[in-house]
Amino acid sequence: MFEVMLQDEFERLFEGDYRPQHLENMVIGFWEGSNIPEKLRKLRLENNIGKLGYVEGPPTLNGRPHIGHTWGRTIKDLWYRWRSMQGYYVLFRAGWDCQGLPVEIEAEKELGFSNKKEALAKLGEERFIEEIKNILHKYHADWRRVDRRFGMFMDYEKEYFTYRDKYIEREWKYLKRAYEQGLLGKGYRVVAYCPSCQTSLSNAEVGQDYSVVEDPSIYFKLRLETGDYILVWTTMPFTIVTDELLAVNPDAEYARVKVGNEKWIMVRNLVEALMNKLNVSDYDIEETFPGIELEGRKYEYPLMEEVPYQKRLEEQDGRVHRIVTAGFVDVTTGTGVVHIAPANGEEDFELVQMLKIPVFSPFDDEAKFTEEAGFFKGVFARDADQIVIDLLEKKGLLVKSEKIFHEYPLCWRSKHRLIWMARTEYFYWLDKIVDKLLEAASKVEYFYNPPKNRFLSFIKEGKPWCISRERVWGTPLPIFVCEKCGREELLASRKEIVERALSLPDGENFELHKPWMDKIKIKCSCGGIMHRVPFVLDTWHNSGAAPYSSLTDEEYREFVPVDFLVESIDQTRGWAFTLLVENVIMTGRPEAPYRAFLFYGQVLDEKGNKMSKSLGNVINTEDVITKYSADLCRFYLLWKTNPIENINF
Ligand SMILES: [Zn+2]
Ligand SMILES: [Zn+2]
Repeated sequence: MFEVMLQDEFERLFEGDYRPQHLENMVIGFWEGSNIPEKLRKLRLENNIGKLGYVEGPPTLNGRPHIGHTWGRTIKDLWYRWRSMQGYYVLFRAGWDCQGLPVEIEAEKELGFSNKKEALAKLGEERFIEEIKNILHKYHADWRRVDRRFGMFMDYEKEYFTYRDKYIEREWKYLKRAYEQGLLGKGYRVVAYCPSCQTSLSNAEVGQDYSVVEDPSIYFKLRLETGDYILVWTTMPFTIVTDELLAVNPDAEYARVKVGNEKWIMVRNLVEALMNKLNVSDYDIEETFPGIELEGRKYEYPLMEEVPYQKRLEEQDGRVHRIVTAGFVDVTTGTGVVHIAPANGEEDFELVQMLKIPVFSPFDDEAKFTEEAGFFKGVFARDADQIVIDLLEKKGLLVKSEKIFHEYPLCWRSKHRLIWMARTEYFYWLDKIVDKLLEAASKVEYFYNPPKNRFLSFIKEGKPWCISRERVWGTPLPIFVCEKCGREELLASRKEIVERALSLPDGENFELHKPWMDKIKIKCSCGGIMHRVPFVLDTWHNSGAAPYSSLTDEEYREFVPVDFLVESIDQTRGWAFTLLVENVIMTGRPEAPYRAFLFYGQVLDEKGNKMSKSLGNVINTEDVITKYSADLCRFYLLWKTNPIENINF
């Protein structure tokens, strides 16, 4: 019957009457009616020339599929058919990314809340999670509908969801393996923080959205004990609240410049440019000397009245508010003098760690100043910028204040400006396994050089990966802390938790999520009670755990490393990276969980602009299929360009 109809349709086609949607519906009807995808899987399972692994890069169920997603799905499906026709059995299961920031934020938005605090206050954790699950189901249905229209041959019977208990428990295995190898631990470090999402972010996430923003740019002077002034530049005036040191470059030449009755110190090679910028026409370079000569000089901290705690810091450590030398000080911008706010900068933090000077970090979870910041108590960090500028002006220390436009990292979800804050978080110490990661990554086939180089150079940075998040909807970090002796313990399976529990308020089959996990109390060997730490895991950890978590032990052994993965180029910092890291941790060997990884470009709008919700130029795949048909859309995506270029759609 189908053959006859198909014959008919082809005859029409050759007469110039192509009815793509009609044809597609016919074929889909035939595939579904005769269970073709299932039959193909069976046939190839019994009769194959080899078996190939694949792990689906799970789309996040926080929205409908757009044309960018569809490009990747088209290539995946094509690869699957090609390999199947060659005679391979291919494990080709669907999977869905269900947790983390993107989903939580979508839920907050759909429920009409402006942030986490509000959502939790009004709904409570349990209700909030119920609502999140409803949203997941809604978008899952949308995705399945579009996949069906596309004729995707994925195995949906064995699809995986990253929020299911079974998946989460296997994800914990990665933590356990990391812990055994000394790669998981708590650290007090400066991390990127989104004040809107109220959580820290990983380096991988930080790189995902750099945009041009407007910031203050101020030049101010600080009085030295010698009576001279030293000239400093910053684009984040609020960090003067947490200022602890000034740094100069030991080898660069500095100058003492006479300006009116004052003497200002700055780097020699920028004197002319700076004087010009600051509208000072009458000046004299009195003397020049190497930066090293400034070392140890004391300066008057400008906000001592407002932040009395800074006085205590000086008393605690006599090196606070003195000039130090550091090789990283760039003498080609600013004034060649860098003010060091360890609580708000990675390099600043590392410098004082090295010098063993205490870190002053007076912030709460909303990035507002705490009591210790005195006058600034309760003020949101970035709102303090203007207050600090006004205070410096009042004190006669402000030399110039203007606005600049520069590239600055935004939160990849909420688009808010990130700030850097010293916090206690949990980390994977990737610095210890950089070589293994590089070795694993270099064995992979990438098809094109640019994405390969991009990927390898990101891995080379080897920065610790901050895996803890201050959110609700994610894989709970199963570390318990004793309230009596402070001991910490990782309990990375339901069995271990049940065995050690003092009480199980929701029985043995409690859901592996907040708030259920947090009701469980564990008995410590000292006799005290242990509570779970408040964190969930980075959602990129959740999806990066897919090879082991979505498969059984046996399947993982048989199919990983998988044969081929394909994702968009931004995944060099995302899924491709977390997959690699987690597999090296799991196996303890320099082994990526994939043999080949094709990164494809971005789908831009017809004028070449990035598609984004805020620009309103995102194209929903379903609209394209409805208007033009799936086959035309598929053909266009595959034919228009090679995968590494961007497509103007
Ligand atoms: Zn955010
Ligand atoms: Zn204890």
